[in-house]
Amino acid sequence: MRLTVLGCAGSFPGPESACSAYLVEAEGFRLLIDFGSGSLSALQRYAGIDAIDAILITHLHCDHMLDACTYVVVRRYDPAGPLPPLPVYAPMGAAERISAAYSSDAEPVDDVYTFYGLQPGTFPIGPFTVTADRVNHPIETYGVRVEHNGSVLAYSSDTAPCDPLLRLAQGADLFLCEASYLDGRPNPPDLHLTGGEAGEAATKADVGRLLLTHLVPAWGSEASTVEAACAAYAGPVEVVRPGARYDL
Ligand SMILES: [Zn+2]
Ligand SMILES: [Zn+2]
Repeated sequence: MRLTVLGCAGSFPGPESACSAYLVEAEGFRLLIDFGSGSLSALQRYAGIDAIDAILITHLHCDHMLDACTYVVVRRYDPAGPLPPLPVYAPMGAAERISAAYSSDAEPVDDVYTFYGLQPGTFPIGPFTVTADRVNHPIETYGVRVEHNGSVLAYSSDTAPCDPLLRLAQGADLFLCEASYLDGRPNPPDLHLTGGEAGEAATKADVGRLLLTHLVPAWGSEASTVEAACAAYAGPVEVVRPGARYDL
């Protein structure tokens, strides 16, 4: 299984990165997890404009789904003819949300995407076994655990501390975890993690490696976030970058 980071800026595009989008590949199958603003550009740079076999959208905030609207044009109006419909696993309401953002008359996009409603549970996507569970964020949001041939990638999506996050990450080889806020500040509750909270979750879940993502350059300090995570977790920690690849 290979993870390629396409975009990792938290909450809105940053000066060096698009919003959240992660390509996970195995056996020639390419699953895109989240498709945030600006990440269609990174998809072309690091993978290929049609290099997707399925999409999983963890929640319907713009920084995790908006380029699924832009991508309608790519699939529908290819000069060689429409590309085949893509499966999209997303919270209920994704079809309506994408059509509303795509055009002012909310034209359906079911010629481009085949939607499957996400619910807590375990299910296959291509060669992957995916477990999704609700995490602690203001709208319906799913953290995910992706397994292939005994390797495990866990992804927090956006969340404040919660038990489902620990279950999803338990024993993961790679834990891709958000760290939007700085420690030691009165941050809004039930929204995001700090670097220290990401480190605590990594320790409790006994993961092999912590990859910090969804940092918000305009709000925080990468050095402070990493320092706080390392104080709470003894394993390897790094902040992901666009184009970074991890094999597991
Ligand atoms: Zn976000
Ligand atoms: Zn969010």
